[in-house]
Amino acid sequence: MAEILLKNADAILTMNDARQELAGADLLVRNGKISQVGHGLSSAGEVHDVTGCVVTPGLVNTHHHLYQTLTRAVPAGQNALLFGWLQTLYPIWSRFGPDEMYTSAQIGLAELALSGCTLSSDHLYLYPNGSRLDDTIAAAADLGLRFHPTRGAMSIGESSGGLPPDALVEAEADILNDMIRVVDAFHDPSEGAMCRVGLAPCSPFSVSRDLMRDAALLARDKGVMLHTHLAENDEDIRYSESQFGCRPGQYAEELGWTGPDVWHAHCVKLDGAEIDLFSRTLTGVAHCPCSNCRLGSGIAPVRAMRDSGVKVGLGVDGSASNDSGNLMAEARQAMLLQRVENGADAMSAREALEIATRGGADVLNRPDCGRLMPGKRADIAVWDTSGIESAGSWDPAALLMAGPVRVKHLFVEGRQIVRDCHIATIDLPRAIERQNRLARALQG
Ligand SMILES: [Zn+2]
Repeated sequence: MAEILLKNADAILTMNDARQELAGADLLVRNGKISQVGHGLSSAGEVHDVTGCVVTPGLVNTHHHLYQTLTRAVPAGQNALLFGWLQTLYPIWSRFGPDEMYTSAQIGLAELALSGCTLSSDHLYLYPNGSRLDDTIAAAADLGLRFHPTRGAMSIGESSGGLPPDALVEAEADILNDMIRVVDAFHDPSEGAMCRVGLAPCSPFSVSRDLMRDAALLARDKGVMLHTHLAENDEDIRYSESQFGCRPGQYAEELGWTGPDVWHAHCVKLDGAEIDLFSRTLTGVAHCPCSNCRLGSGIAPVRAMRDSGVKVGLGVDGSASNDSGNLMAEARQAMLLQRVENGADAMSAREALEIATRGGADVLNRPDCGRLMPGKRADIAVWDTSGIESAGSWDPAALLMAGPVRVKHLFVEGRQIVRDCHIATIDLPRAIERQNRLARALQG
């Protein structure tokens, strides 16, 4: 692969170990990796003049349900609490098939890319009408984003006291077999991997204790990560206490769901002991501030988590509970929400951006991503700070205070995915048209 040189950036926020920021600096990419960051670099390859721009690592999204981009702003779910919201949407999702899964994933990932995201996870926990994890993996590969899909699952339907309708749940033996299939087919453990698969039963209230434990055993056997929803809101805590006789943290620990290879979404209601547990075990958290606001779940104790050394990344969560998929906007929301709870000095723009980049990469066990350092993967976001959003800013590098929410250029593994604010790898207008056609069909 030819070299790429980003020349004369107003600022490069490296997110390296010293959190160094370079002014008037250059960045050289060679063979999909960052080769040099510094001043006065030259190259015979492709050169981009990035004067008037701030360069950051690509953002990392640690929690999503990409299929939900087909059910944004569904009227009956707009103002419902979590459980009621799910019960509104389950019957709609039960009509999805492979085409819906591919198209919604493509739209969701393209939206993320335009907001500076280079690496996204996804949590797909329902497989109606022949849908497979493969459908979303194909969408990510076609777009060119680095992808960590997780094979989710639901096994306890309404007739067994669960929340989802029986038609959307699977037999646990089938779930485990398909988990093995997708890990064997798609998981790449090597450095620089473009696809890594995780295992992700949907939540403690939609699968059995046995499946939680079996998935943990299988993940350790295969060397893949574990992911689920945990301690999302008060209803969730009450369910855990009444059904399992303990708090979610204890339930997770008993079933093998803590450790450096585990990350949990939300964790809004973690108490002090659970934060200690996550810190001690290096268990990660996907913080989803917009979704938590949208569903009225509360404010996650991110300040306390970070102060205790818990690994925290950001997630936009499914579009049906956000309903946007803009990761840069999510980072700003994370910063603002900690200030609502803890005061104006609780989180800086730079710390929130760190959580969105390096923090997320660490949650997904990707030390090869999320920082602009020689030898790391060339996952890079270029932000144009010459536009109206930054006009008058005394500190354009404080992107989350006053800056663009749409990226100018985006590179993944050195390949350009966004060029001049437009997706360069797929025909996005056609994909949007297909998405809207499918959404209209679902509305019947
Ligand atoms: Zn979620």
